[in-house]
Amino acid sequence: MHKLVGQAIGFVFGCALAVASMPLVCLAEETAPVEVVETVTEDVTAPAGHWVPLGEYKLTFFCNCRRCCGKWAGGPTASGTMPAEGRTVACGSLPLGTRILIAGQGEYIVEDRGVRGKHIDIYMDSHSACLRNGVKYAGVFRWVQD
Ligand SMILES: [Zn+2]
Repeated sequence: MHKLVGQAIGFVFGCALAVASMPLVCLAEETAPVEVVETVTEDVTAPAGHWVPLGEYKLTFFCNCRRCCGKWAGGPTASGTMPAEGRTVACGSLPLGTRILIAGQGEYIVEDRGVRGKHIDIYMDSHSACLRNGVKYAGVFRWVQD
């Protein structure tokens, strides 16, 4: 009798060990391979428009630090967005939200104020990068929807 119980316990214990020692199923193998979605730059459904030249602008660069922004350092832009490199520029002579193209720089959105006239202040994440860029002059275009 005792021997039988002992065997039963041994069997249960053995099963538990077997379960515990089973390798965890690698979930990574179960996940589907990541599909590469091709980015279509010319979307036929996008509203048509064209670039209107605005002439040459002075370009300067700023980041969100105290030296560049003073009491507004670390805060959102005048349009309420958090500034992002490659998207945010400040300009006092174009409406907030204006999509612009700066020759040699790329496409940006006017999201902030702080400079006047034909002057665009380009947002960058790093103050040292701003200093490296210094002051430039470049042709600027404004996107106008047809
Ligand atoms: Zn700065």
